[in-house]
This record gives sequence, structure tokens and C-alpha cells, in this order.
Amino acid sequence: MSGYWDPHIERMPPEELRTLQEDRLKSLVRYVYDHSAFYRQRFKEAGVEPGDIKTLDDVTKLPFTKKVDLRDTYPTGMFCLPRSSVVRYHVSSGTTGKPTVVGYNKGDIDTWAESLARALTSIGLGRSDVMQVSYGYGLFTGGLGLHYGAERIGAAVIPVGVGSTERQIILMQDLDTTAIACTPSYFLHLIEVADKMGVSIRDDTQLKVGIFGAEPWSLETRKRIESATGIKAYDIYGTSEISGPLFTDCSCKNGIHVWGDMFLTEVLDPKTGETVEDGERGELVFTTLNKFAMPLIRYRIGDLSIMETEPCECGRTHPRIMRILGRTDDMLIIRGINVFPSQVESVLMGIPAVGDHWQIIVDRDGPLDVMTVRVELVEAGFSDKIRDLLSLKKKVSKELKGVLNIAANVDLVEPGTIPRSEGKAKRVIDNRNI
Ligand SMILES: [Zn+2]
Repeated sequence: MSGYWDPHIERMPPEELRTLQEDRLKSLVRYVYDHSAFYRQRFKEAGVEPGDIKTLDDVTKLPFTKKVDLRDTYPTGMFCLPRSSVVRYHVSSGTTGKPTVVGYNKGDIDTWAESLARALTSIGLGRSDVMQVSYGYGLFTGGLGLHYGAERIGAAVIPVGVGSTERQIILMQDLDTTAIACTPSYFLHLIEVADKMGVSIRDDTQLKVGIFGAEPWSLETRKRIESATGIKAYDIYGTSEISGPLFTDCSCKNGIHVWGDMFLTEVLDPKTGETVEDGERGELVFTTLNKFAMPLIRYRIGDLSIMETEPCECGRTHPRIMRILGRTDDMLIIRGINVFPSQVESVLMGIPAVGDHWQIIVDRDGPLDVMTVRVELVEAGFSDKIRDLLSLKKKVSKELKGVLNIAANVDLVEPGTIPRSEGKAKRVIDNRNI
């Protein structure tokens, strides 16, 4: 088991942590009320004032915020500090509508790095490690986020960014990279390219840890990555609105530790907005407890997960969230049934003849939705025998139907057919125009 970055905070008794959260929530509410016309207006509409927040449970009296609020107040309408206090901006392009801008003061950048320093330490990284940051640098938070976190624990950083995969593999060998941070789909691509170059990640590199995120991925993909390369694959979570990547699972792999002194995490029924029980699935909602340039109150992040508040085996007492199950807005409704791309992934990655790349294509045939899953086979799975292919196709269809409760066409394609991406993989092509 790995050590702690900040043992006092990370192992704080739950009651003490709760008191700390309560104090921070009360000052935050007062702070946003005093510094932001946006929040004053929202509080007024909800009929709540800072004095109404007396305990942690009173958080439910506060209004939600959403991504649309950041767009509507573009660029800086939700900031609580003047421009002169801001030291960094990150901007997310957003596939629909206006971009969103997040601002940080010096303390916010520091808190962000501190969150990742705890996380990276919890997976066994430290001064002797070399981290290749293969997330995008720039307006996207992945690159700089991991960069600052890794520097804080004293690791050496290779700020390679995305792309130039062959060069990445050469650098990995020449500079003895021990950890890489990127999207899981990019890492699968990197394994493929290494293979073509005659480089085995397991035997020809020092890589021991992968930190994968920015897109949902299944446990089955984790198993695949680990058995193909011998590394340990960890999940990283966070979005630009709450700073960027912030949290990982620890070496116990028992859920992602969300630091309670920094964030108040709620899980709600996405339809009713009511809190769900510990262990039940719902939408994640974060309140930033010590961010100052652009704090967020009850921000509905749109990701679905399950929260556990029991302390982890590693001794950390902060809440854990389970593997992200998908986004409320990634959910496809096909013939009235909710389908998450992560469900499809977990079925496919459990079938050995299926390769690492796949897509869901949704069309409309008259009034009916038709879902097709395009699946790339591994070289060895690509049989010349039609009978083998038919039986594999049948197996994939049957397993998909078992999990999704809806029939899907299965289209088996040759290795290398589906376009590779260097950032987030494009898993869904929805041709329905709805
Ligand atoms: Zn743990």
C-alpha cells in the first residue's frame, strides 16, 4: 500500500471531516453571495440566504448550477474575483453552443495541484517517477493539470501532449517513463503502434502505471490494458468546470477518492433532484469548497456514478465514487430504452476475439431506431471461415441484448478499420438528427 501525501487530511476522522465541510460550506455561501451578482440572484429566486445554511444537510436548500449557466454568463459572469486576481483561464470548446471559461486564482491552481499530488501518491508515484503527460496541453485542462500534480510530488514530467505516437514510444524508452497519463483509447492506440514498431511495452519499457480518463471506460478495458502491458491502470476523474482532472482511485482500486475538504459531493436522482442512498446510482453534483475565482455551488456535472462513504482499506476516509457509468447527456435513447456506450464497451471488451476499437451507429428506419455496433476484430479473431464469423457475430449480438435489453445489428470489421483518435474516441455516430 502506498503512503500518503497529506496523512492528516486524508485520514481525518469522518466526523471531523464533516465539521470541516460544514464550516467551509457556510463561508463559501457567504462568499459567493457577497462576490457574485449571479449567485445573489439565484439565491433570491430560490428564497435562500447565507444565514439559512446552518448544517451540511442545508446544502439541499441551495439552487443547482449547470453548464448552461457558464454558457449564459460567458465569458466571466460567474467569476467571484476581479480579472486582476485571475492567474489562469481554461476554455472548453463544447460540442454544442458557446464555449465555457473557467478562471483560477493562485490558490485555486495550488488546490488543484494538491488534489492531484494526493491522488498520484495514492497510486504509488513519487520523486523517482517519470511521468509522460500525453493529454492535450493548452486550453484543455488535462495536460497542465497532470503536469502540475506530477511536479508537486517531485516526479519528472515529459510534457509531450497528444500525437506523434512513434516519438512518444521512443521517448518512453529513452527517458525511462514509468507513468503515462492519457485517454484510455489513446493508450490502446499507442500499444498498437508500439507493436508495429516491434516494441513491447511490457519488456522494452519501464512503464508501470497508466492514468486514464477524460472518457468513460470499463473495467474490462482496464483488464485488457493490464494484461496486454503488465502495467497498473488507474482511473482519473474531474472536469474543467471544477478545475480539471482531480481525483484517482488509490492502489486498492476501490473507487475514486473525492477529497471532502475540497469538494462536497452529492449523488442525485437526475429526474427528481432528490439525494439517492449510498451505493445507488445517480448524477454527481459537486460544490467546490475552496475555489475562489469561480466557485461552483451544487454543480450538476452530468456524470452518473455511485458514491460510497465507508472509509477505504487504504485508510483514507474521504468519500469514493465508483467508475463513471456515463453521462446523462451521453445516454442514448434507442426505441425508448436507455443505452450507455459504457455498457456496450463492457460487453465487447469481455469477448477475447473482439479488438479494442468499436463504434455505435444509430439510424432511423421509418419510425424505428436501428442500432448497429461496429466491432473491430483482433488479428487472430479474424477468421477466413464464414461459419466462425457468423458464430462470433451471434455471440456478440446475444451478449449485447442480454445487457442492453434491445437488439443491435453487429457489424464485424477487419483490424484497423475504425478511425483512431489521439484525444477522446468518437464512439457514437447518431444519424437520427434528434
Ligand atoms: Zn483508498
